[in-house]
Amino acid sequence: MNRSSVPLSVAAVRRERFVFARHTTYGLGGEAKCAYFPKTLKQAVCVYDYLKSSGVDFFAMGCGSNLLVSDGGYNGAVIVTTRMKGVYRTARDKIFCRAGTTVGSLLQYCKTRGFSGLEYLASIPATFGGITCMNGGAAGKFIGDDITYVKFYDGKIRLISKENCKFGYKYSTMRDINGLILGAEVKITPETPAEVEEKISHYSALRSRQPRGRSCGCVFKNPPQCSAGKLIEAAGFKGFSIGGAKVSEAHANFIINDGGTAADVRALIKKIKTDIFSAFGVLLEEEVVYIGEFDDKTYG
Ligand SMILES: Cc1cc2nc3c(=O)[nH]c(=O)nc-3n(C[C@H](O)[C@H](O)[C@H](O)COP(=O)(O)OP(=O)(O)OC[C@H]3O[C@@H](n4cnc5c(N)ncnc54)[C@H](O)[C@@H]3O)c2cc1C
Repeated sequence: MNRSSVPLSVAAVRRERFVFARHTTYGLGGEAKCAYFPKTLKQAVCVYDYLKSSGVDFFAMGCGSNLLVSDGGYNGAVIVTTRMKGVYRTARDKIFCRAGTTVGSLLQYCKTRGFSGLEYLASIPATFGGITCMNGGAAGKFIGDDITYVKFYDGKIRLISKENCKFGYKYSTMRDINGLILGAEVKITPETPAEVEEKISHYSALRSRQPRGRSCGCVFKNPPQCSAGKLIEAAGFKGFSIGGAKVSEAHANFIINDGGTAADVRALIKKIKTDIFSAFGVLLEEEVVYIGEFDDKTYG
């Protein structure tokens, strides 16, 4: 990417040095070629179009709370959505949330106005775009159930209906298309601010025993009818470590970065997968998203 050929509107939101370790909850990962921090819809579209036309690999990220980026970094560009913030009401029982809004800000907005229905997201360290892409959720509820449509850019602005998002377990159509989630409309139920606050406190309390330390939350998806954490615990992995990557004592589906490298985390993931398959005949599948080069495979 020759700097002189970058359009002015794109150059204005470009950052040359982007170290993933500073922008992911794992605190791991090398550098990207560069990063873009669009704020407006126009800037996001310009950045996307520019990257598409320049043939550079790129992907969108939010808080980096579900990413394991290789120590060698990523040979491409990143569109970081965290400046694309804002929430507004679209109907009596619906709001539109822009992709870079954090879950915390969204819930603060809902609490102030007495909009209920999304409290189960409390304390998830994510952007709204990230949680939509992953169909994230907690306590048996998932954001895909509350979304009416997603606003998406892939060279064209599209309003993708809930049905066409095909929300499934940690899945949405948007995961298979290298585009940009710009935001989404979600249903809410009017209640009093006090009632909303109480529900947020309830869901936050449910998470109070979650492991401390740097992680990506749950590393593996739950296999059908069983819990990945319980299988990993049953195989005796709690407290087991490779280098500075350690299986949490509190929750075996969490791998904590305790001064390690992305390679340590990846090695631990591979060991867990191999041993769980030998012990139980179950092949665990990662929920964490890999970026960069691991074991001669390139992701992202
Ligand atoms: C302590 C902890 C607890 C967690 N608890 C939960 C939980 O209870 N439930 C849960 O579901 N998850 C949980 N997670 C995992 C994580 O927060 C979610 O997967 C979340 O959805 C990731 O959001 P993000 O903004 O950080 O996305 P990132 O991690 O930055 O990206 C995740 C994926 O979404 C894509 N993406 C992000 N934004 C966009 C966009 N605007 N357009 C297109 N693609 C995009 C990225 O390319 C990537 O593939 C937890 C993580 C941590 C660290």
